[in-house]
Amino acid sequence: MIGTHRAKRDSLAAIEICLERDGGLGEEEALLVLGDCSVPLTGLLTITDRLRRKHSGNKIRLCSIVNAKSGSCSEDCSFCAQSAHYATDVKRYPLLGVENLLMAASEAVRTGAGEFSIVTSGAAVRSEKELKVLEQTLRNIRQSSANLQRCASLGRLSAEQLKHLKEAGLECFHHNLEASRSFFPRICTTHTYDDRVEIVRTAKEVGFRVCSGGIFGMGETNADRVALARELKALDVDSVPINFLHPIPGTPLEEARYLTPEICLRIIAMFRLVLPDKDIVICGGRGYNLRDMQSMIFWAGANGILIGDYLTTSGRDAEADLKMLQDLELEPYEKE
Ligand code: SF4
Repeated sequence: MIGTHRAKRDSLAAIEICLERDGGLGEEEALLVLGDCSVPLTGLLTITDRLRRKHSGNKIRLCSIVNAKSGSCSEDCSFCAQSAHYATDVKRYPLLGVENLLMAASEAVRTGAGEFSIVTSGAAVRSEKELKVLEQTLRNIRQSSANLQRCASLGRLSAEQLKHLKEAGLECFHHNLEASRSFFPRICTTHTYDDRVEIVRTAKEVGFRVCSGGIFGMGETNADRVALARELKALDVDSVPINFLHPIPGTPLEEARYLTPEICLRIIAMFRLVLPDKDIVICGGRGYNLRDMQSMIFWAGANGILIGDYLTTSGRDAEADLKMLQDLELEPYEKE
């Protein structure tokens, strides 16, 4: 018994030493965090809470998204309700017009979000007409709600197209890697991991704040989770959205049930420890997978959440999230 206590204390000490020496956990210690109870959750969360406070104080980023173009996607991502390869009951509609997108931005401001992302289904928004709608929308938001950070997730755009959007006011570009390089072919066959890495690199080169993360609970191993964190660190992304699978009927992952609240917290903690100076934002599947343990994500190291509805599933009432922050003496981050 004494030996077990000592092992736990030693594993926490090893994490502290690694943080001090390298500024972030290496592969071996990151695997320990996910591995088993040899790293006790309570001790772990004390470390990650401290790192989160060092990174962003008591400020929490609140992101809101609009599903600007839904369904009928040519890609076959096996977790996604929007893929045309699967029979799901997702809504299908073309790109919303400027007026509807502006209404969604106003709603984001009303609910207290500091960041607003326009998200479209499909491999990429390529038509000139669609890009013009997006540019017009971004110009209008810049004028009407200057404090709202303007973000978008539009698939694999060229550097030229990204530059046009930047000129129109886009500040942050989102493109997930979704999984580790070795696991990715098991969840998508219509494009490659390198396609995803390339757009992350291009968006960084164009000068965007880049938001890129993944989705967990698809059958990936702990080694896959660590490999994704290290890949994102190497790409020097600014913000890491973490999604937990909410299985969608009709998709190949409809039966996947791999997560528990503790596994989710350990995944968040591992990302905070590997990427101590980046934003870690908890997105889809938060309520479904963490249930009553949602507020613990901040101790685990998250400094952002998606509020309101997710892309194809409902989120909880934004009021409840704002109340949760208030109760925890945390405050929404405001753009300077
Ligand atoms: S994740 Fe994106 S690219 Fe993949 S199927 Fe869904 S909408 Fe299409």
